[in-house]
Amino acid sequence: MFSYDGPERRRDYPLLVKRYERLLEVTRTLTSTLDLPSLLQTIIDAAAELTDTEAASILLLDANTGQLRFEATTNVDTVRLDEITVPIEGSIAGTIYTTMKPIIIDNAAADPRHYSKVDSQTAFVTRSILGVPLVSKDKCVGVLQALNKRNGGQFTEDDVSTLETLAAQAAVAIVNARLFQQSDLIAEMVHELRTPLAALTATSHILLRADLPSERRTEFVGTIRDETNRLAKMTTECLDLAKVESGRARFEKQPFDLAELVHECVGVVMPQADSRQVAIHEQQTIGLPLVNGDRGKIKQMLLNLLTNAIKYNREGGSIYVTGEVVNERLKMAVRDTGKGIPPESLPRVFEKFYRVPDSEGWSQGTGLGLAIARRIVESHGGKMTVESAVNIGTTFSFSLPLA
Ligand code: ADP
Repeated sequence: MFSYDGPERRRDYPLLVKRYERLLEVTRTLTSTLDLPSLLQTIIDAAAELTDTEAASILLLDANTGQLRFEATTNVDTVRLDEITVPIEGSIAGTIYTTMKPIIIDNAAADPRHYSKVDSQTAFVTRSILGVPLVSKDKCVGVLQALNKRNGGQFTEDDVSTLETLAAQAAVAIVNARLFQQSDLIAEMVHELRTPLAALTATSHILLRADLPSERRTEFVGTIRDETNRLAKMTTECLDLAKVESGRARFEKQPFDLAELVHECVGVVMPQADSRQVAIHEQQTIGLPLVNGDRGKIKQMLLNLLTNAIKYNREGGSIYVTGEVVNERLKMAVRDTGKGIPPESLPRVFEKFYRVPDSEGWSQGTGLGLAIARRIVESHGGKMTVESAVNIGTTFSFSLPLA
């Protein structure tokens, strides 16, 4: 099953029975939870308790980056860990992931594969590790780790079998919760489809009336065109979002010139900007270093920010695109002089389907563009943020890793 060079690790049957009773209880909770964050919390709490360790953590594969990412830890705030990805190659978690076999490390400091960045970024000192793969239907989705056996003890064979049993249940529950997230998106989309469909039905009924003046007829045909466009946009964007969310989107990363891409995107949206007399200024974008990323996906994200900056701008307004290197990342900002976003709506603009009430261009919007844009940036290990002041303007900023 697995090998180690430590002293004999004896079985303790009464303890095992007690553990299995507890495992059964935990399994019941796992099968009834579809909310991923609370599911992960239950798993790590149970892992630390059942193996008598100080802490436990879960790393899941991020299919977009091909690396393992901390999704939950008992000992430290995951917010501080969510920037830390662990490479598959050469790391302990990576070895467990690829071999799909458990590993015991009695002295983490002496193991060259130990990823000490985690310890240095948190106050936690890892002494010993028991890691098992999270496998569902022969596919490894991540790694469950128990850290620091209490009272300076060593991991036993029973610890391994207990954690493996928990991991087997946990993996199935994680896969189910992810599938549920997907079906949630479908449910939301179906709900969102109702508004344009209702508009189409109502408009087509009115158009059938013989006494309708011809100018009203033209107006209603315009509504049909807009709503049909919106439906088409919504289906494409929904598929895009489902792909990035599930990790099925393939990112082909390579070094490229972001400033040049900005220039290309400005060219694409220029006719739209001209029609609203919005001027676009590219500032401080010359001489910036290359970034590493999927050029096509970054283009999609940039086009979304620029079209929003035009759509939600005032007539005759301006857009400024700027770039600078901050903390070994290229930070870009798209600032507009538009109507701004009210403070109560600001935290919600990245939510799927969210649109600020009474937005101009409301009928054209789907509320999905920013959700996708943020996901794209995050899949590159970057962040996207927004700042806004009503009647002054909005700035969307994002960072990407340098090549
Ligand atoms: P939409 O298709 O509605 O534009 P997005 O996800 O791109 O969807 O944006 C979500 C909402 O955020 C928009 O409906 C709009 O209310 C608001 N928003 C986005 N960008 C801006 C901006 N530059 N200025 C003001 N409001 C914005």
